[in-house]
Amino acid sequence: MCNDTKECPLGRLISREWDAMLGRGGITEEAGEEEVLGLLISHHFTWDSVKILEMAATALEDANYHRECECVLGLLREAKQTRRRKK
Ligand SMILES: [Zn+2]
Repeated sequence: MCNDTKECPLGRLISREWDAMLGRGGITEEAGEEEVLGLLISHHFTWDSVKILEMAATALEDANYHRECECVLGLLREAKQTRRRKK
C-alpha cells in the first residue's frame, strides 16, 4: 500500500468504506484493504467479470507483472466468449 493515509484518495475511501461495511456486517474485523476494495470494485462494475478482469489486467501490467497479466488476459478472453455464447 502507498502508506499515504492522509492524501491518497483511495486510502481514504477504503478506510471510510471499511467502517461502513463492518457496520453493515458485510466484512469481519480481519478484512484487509484488498477485500474492501474488491467489494467496491465488484459493486461499481455491477458484478461484470469482463470489467473486473480488465481492471485487474491493467493493474498487473502497470506493476510490471507481465506473466500474471497474461494469465488474467486469458481469463478475460474466456469471459468475453462466455458472454457472447449467453447472448
Ligand atoms: Zn494510496
